[in-house]
Amino acid sequence: MRILVVEDDAALRGQLVQAMVAAGHTVETAADGRQGHYLGEVEDFDAVVLDLGLPLLDGLSVLRRWRAAQRPMPVLILTARSAWQEKVAGIDAGADDYLAKPFQMEELMARLRALLRRRAEHGSALWQCGPIALDTRQARVLVDGQLLSLTSHEFKLLALLMQRKGEVLSRTELAEHIYAQDSERDSNTIEVFVGRLRRKLPAGSIETVRGLGYRLVDATTA
Ligand code: CA
Repeated sequence: MRILVVEDDAALRGQLVQAMVAAGHTVETAADGRQGHYLGEVEDFDAVVLDLGLPLLDGLSVLRRWRAAQRPMPVLILTARSAWQEKVAGIDAGADDYLAKPFQMEELMARLRALLRRRAEHGSALWQCGPIALDTRQARVLVDGQLLSLTSHEFKLLALLMQRKGEVLSRTELAEHIYAQDSERDSNTIEVFVGRLRRKLPAGSIETVRGLGYRLVDATTA
């Protein structure tokens, strides 16, 4: 797994790297909040260990900025022992777990394993098809990093197409997925929703397979 460690204490940073490399992970490090924020924004990590007390940009601001930018990776924050307010603020800012300093390295590694396991069980929180990214945790869609405004029907439709990208889905299948009630189901309206969704997505993303249904493709490589 690929882990980012953001910690300004060089000795602790070294211990964290050592423990993670020993556990078979690949580790990137940052010694201040600005560099940490940058790495977490432009690179993908399976998990992040983030100290809250950091120079240049504090850990809470780093975390808030990542979450505001829809960065979905699990984050474990390191807080000061006595500061319970920090833990609350950290969880509110989108932390997945926290550990108070000083801590045993074994405990940190156990919590990290739990985070990675939870992430694996839920599958990837971010589904990708070319420039389209669907964040299943936050129910949001980004195209080239720009938030897309979708109705709930459009979102459900796109979610199914993305989950099964490359496969042809019939109008009936799509209607069954979108409408909870049998009585509401009308496969003719699917055409309308597909039409609306198409106008919001990069051209060529939804292919019509005549007589069969629709298929989502990465239009940028077609
Ligand atoms: Ca610190």
